[in-house]
Amino acid sequence: MPERITLRVPPGQAPDEARIRHRLADALRLTPGALPPYRILRCSIDARRGRPCYELTVVLGAAAALPPPPPPLAPVPANAKPVLVVGAGPAGYFAALELIAHGLKPVILERGPDVTARRYAIAALYRAGSVNTDANYCFGEGGAGAYSDGKLYTRATKRGDVGKVLQRMVAHGADPRILIEAQPHIGSNRLPRIIAGIRRTILDNGGEVHFGRRVVGLVRHGGRVRGVMSAEGEKWLAEAVVLATGHSARDVYTWLSACGVRITAKPLAVGVRIEHPQSLIDQIQYRSPVRPAGLPPAVYRLKTRIDGRGVYSFCMCPGGHVIPAATAPGELVLNGMSMAGRNGPLANAGLVVEIGPTDLAAEAGDDPLALLRFQQRIEQAAYAAGGEGLRAPAQRMTDFVAGRPSTSLPSSSYRPGLVAWPVHTLLPAPVAGRLQAALTLFGRQMRGFLTEEALVLAVESRTSAPVCVLRDAETLMAPGFDGLYPCGEGAGHAGGIVSAAVDGQNVARRIVGFPGKV
Ligand SMILES: Cc1cc2nc3c(=O)[nH]c(=O)nc-3n(C[C@H](O)[C@H](O)[C@H](O)COP(=O)(O)OP(=O)(O)OC[C@H]3O[C@@H](n4cnc5c(N)ncnc54)[C@H](O)[C@@H]3O)c2cc1C
Repeated sequence: MPERITLRVPPGQAPDEARIRHRLADALRLTPGALPPYRILRCSIDARRGRPCYELTVVLGAAAALPPPPPPLAPVPANAKPVLVVGAGPAGYFAALELIAHGLKPVILERGPDVTARRYAIAALYRAGSVNTDANYCFGEGGAGAYSDGKLYTRATKRGDVGKVLQRMVAHGADPRILIEAQPHIGSNRLPRIIAGIRRTILDNGGEVHFGRRVVGLVRHGGRVRGVMSAEGEKWLAEAVVLATGHSARDVYTWLSACGVRITAKPLAVGVRIEHPQSLIDQIQYRSPVRPAGLPPAVYRLKTRIDGRGVYSFCMCPGGHVIPAATAPGELVLNGMSMAGRNGPLANAGLVVEIGPTDLAAEAGDDPLALLRFQQRIEQAAYAAGGEGLRAPAQRMTDFVAGRPSTSLPSSSYRPGLVAWPVHTLLPAPVAGRLQAALTLFGRQMRGFLTEEALVLAVESRTSAPVCVLRDAETLMAPGFDGLYPCGEGAGHAGGIVSAAVDGQNVARRIVGFPGKV
C-alpha cells in the first residue's frame, strides 16, 4: 500500500467526498469499504495539459492522522509578566497568542481603531479622498492584510510553524480548506471576523488590547528597553517590547533610527498595478473560451529577469479590486484585495522591478532610509499626477509598452477613479523600461495578456519593507537594545500575512526562551 497517492479529479468533483472515495478505491483497486484511513494533504489545480483538473495528494494509513492542533489557550496567571506588543497586525497578534500559550501577558498597543471601526475610516477615505494617518488600508487592527485577498501561501515554511498559524486561523473561523489548498486565501469579507475573534481570545486569556495608541519612542533604563511612549502622552512599561509595526510606519523607522537602533537599507521592488478582465485571464489560463464549471477564477504568477533585475507579478487578486493603500496625505500607492468568492469582473496584480540600494548610490550615500525616501517620492509623484481625491494615473497596457499616452481607458475596479496619464513617465526610466520589456515578453508567453483592454495603474511601491531593523540572530533582539524585539514585515524579517505571523510566533518563543531576561 503506498503512503501517498495523487488523484486527478475533473472540476466539480474535488469537494465531493463520496466521489473522491470512489476514485481512491478505484486507484487502489479496493472497495470503498476496504479503504485504509486517508486524508487529503494538498489540493491544487493543474491547468497545464489543456484539460484543467484538480490534483489531490492523498496520504494513507498512519500518515493520514491529522497533526495535533495547538492546545487550547488558558488564561495567564494574574501575576503574569507583561510584554508590550506594538502593532495589531499578524505579527503582533500571533506573537500575543504565543506569549499567552507560554504564560506571559501581552499588552498590545495599536495606533488605529478596531477592525470594525476601521471600516468607517476606510469609507471616509473614499468619501473625502483624504487619508487618515492612523486608520487606513495599512493601519488599524488586523494590519495591512485585514482588507486584502488574504492569500495565505508562503515560502516561510522553513522559518517556523506555518501549520500552527493556519490551524489558529481555522480555530478562529477560517475555512478548514486552507489547511489543504495549495494556494489558500480567505478574502476581505471574512478576514475581519477572524481578526476580531483572535482579539477576543487574547482578551479572554488575560491579554490587553489598546487601540488609538501610537507609539513614538522607547523607554530605556540600565541599558535595557523597558517600555514605550505613546503620542497620547502615556508611558507603558514592561520587561520586553515586540515592535511589529509593519512596513508602512515610516514614522517608526525615523524615530528608531534617531535613537540609535541599527537600520540598513533593504532591496525592494516598485512598479505598477495591472488590471485585466477576469474572463480574459480565465481564457488564457484554462485554455478555454469560458471558465470550465467548477473551477475558481484563474490566477497567474509571472517572473523574468530583464537587464540583471527581477521583474515579477505580485499579490495577484482574481476577481478583485484595486485600492488606495496610502498612509499619509499627498501620497498615492495602490494595492489589491478580493472577496472570498473572488467573483468580481476584473483581475489585478502588482508588476514590479527589484531595486537595490546601489541603484540610488549616487544620491543616497550610506543613508539607510534612502529607499524609503525614494518610495515616498514616487508615491508623491503619482498623487500629483492623479490630483485630488486619490484618482490613479492610468494607461492602457499597450500604450504603456509603446510609451504613448492613452486617449481613453477601459473600466477599472479602482473606485476613486482614473486619470489618463503616461504612467511610464512617473517611474524611473530603468524601472519603466524593464516593465515594458517584461510585458512584451509576458504577452508572448500568455497570448492575449498584452492587450489594450488591460490597464497599467500607478503606483505599486509597498511590496516589502525598504529597510531592515537589525536583530541578533540568536536572541532576535536589536543589538545594543536588549528587550527590544523588531518583528514581522516592518522589521524586514517577513513578507506576507503568514510569514509575519510565523515571525511573531518565533519572537514570542525567543522571549519565553530567555526567562532570566523577562
Ligand atoms: C491591500 C493589501 C493587500 C495585501 N494582500 C496580501 C495577501 O493577500 N497575502 C499576504 O500574505 N499579504 C498581503 N499583504 C501584505 C500583508 O498584509 C503584510 O505582509 C502583513 O500584514 C505584515 O504583517 P505585520 O504584522 O508585520 O505588519 P502590518 O500588518 O503592517 O501590521 C502593523 C500594525 O502596526 C500598527 N502600527 C504601525 N505603527 C504603529 C505605531 N507607531 N504604534 C502602534 N501601532 C502601530 C499598524 O496600524 C498595523 O496594525 C497585503 C497588504 C496590503 C496593504
